[in-house]
Amino acid sequence: MDKEHLKRMRKDTLLTHLGSHPRDHHGAVNPPVYHASTITFPTVAARDAARAKKFEGVTYGRSGTPTTFALEEALAGIEGGYRAMLVSSGMAAISVALFAFVSAGDHVLIADSVYGPCRNFCDKVLTRLGVQVTYYDPLIGAGIADLIRPNTKVVYCESPGSLTFEVQDIPAIAAAAHARGCKVLHDNTWGTPYLFPSFERGVDVSIHAATKYIVGHSDAMLGAIVTNQESFLPVRQSMADLGYCAGPDDVYFGLRGLRTMAVRLKQHQENAMRVATWLQGRPEVAQVLYPALPGAPGHELWKRDFRGACGLFSIVLHPAAKPGVDAMLDGMRIFAMGASWGGFESLILPSHPEDLRTATKWQGAGPVLRLHVGLEDPADLIEDIEDGFARMAATNRAAAAE
Ligand SMILES: *Cc1c(COP(=O)(O)O)cnc(C)c1O
Repeated sequence: MDKEHLKRMRKDTLLTHLGSHPRDHHGAVNPPVYHASTITFPTVAARDAARAKKFEGVTYGRSGTPTTFALEEALAGIEGGYRAMLVSSGMAAISVALFAFVSAGDHVLIADSVYGPCRNFCDKVLTRLGVQVTYYDPLIGAGIADLIRPNTKVVYCESPGSLTFEVQDIPAIAAAAHARGCKVLHDNTWGTPYLFPSFERGVDVSIHAATKYIVGHSDAMLGAIVTNQESFLPVRQSMADLGYCAGPDDVYFGLRGLRTMAVRLKQHQENAMRVATWLQGRPEVAQVLYPALPGAPGHELWKRDFRGACGLFSIVLHPAAKPGVDAMLDGMRIFAMGASWGGFESLILPSHPEDLRTATKWQGAGPVLRLHVGLEDPADLIEDIEDGFARMAATNRAAAAE
């Protein structure tokens, strides 16, 4: 299929075909995995011609090969951005993007619900280099205007927020930020390039932990940055200056995962809705923080701005003693305990948003558990949680009897 024709097609078609050029690879559906550092040239003229095109074509392994370009082309097209870049992890994507726009003496605004290691990078690295960092209430919306200073360069969003899933009014934030000349960076890992069209919503730079749903099988680390046209050069230069790139096998895993991401996401959402709806009716649960669930915090904004939901959300339990919660988590049969998410399997993780807030105060009733609902049969997942709640109750009863 020719590129111009494909570009006009719908998202599921783009996801399936964009970046695929079988005629360039003996007809093979997928591009080969190029393992390359040195790229050789037959003549000085050929080398000069290749180097004259900045950030295009194959010039050196670190700058990408046809394997890299295939995934970059697909990601940019699906999200509606200008170009994409691949780096070794989601965290690398965050640091490349932030470094692109700040210098000593500048100021950045960061959502208070941001991914913990991003907060760490801002507090430890950016402040050490003389950048001022202010956290803002993720629900601030257009009110962000009041926090913008003459030296503010970046408004950083993550929606829904890590652990607590606040949905941000990104169009309102972007309008206020752009009126004052600030770039809007957005960690779109939860939304993926497929469910949240960052550029239609006013984002300049979209950041992805491709490690999650894009790779989708818990077996590779990968980061992606998609930008609009004005933001491409600064971000691409930042990536070159920092020396970041992604390994060819990991890029291939990303490309392979991407082709089935739409169907996986649909199933994750369906399963997560089943589990979240059941949890909403449980006496142990004070709140279900899943924006796709009617009545959940942020549901209306989610419905306005997203095309769907993934399988990640949190629940807030009613106050419960730690030994009971530990007994629940220790005995899970299907839900495994571990960082990351977006693979095919279910995960559960105790989390502590109260330790990661400075602009706002986390007001949850009791312990917070983050769930990633995988592709298992949701009836089995519900039984696993139900048995967990029974262990929690038994442990609490035993403690009370002592
Ligand atoms: C996991 C995650 C990251 C970091 O991605 P890695 O590939 O693990 O470095 C960044 N942002 C969010 C929201 C994440 O969940």
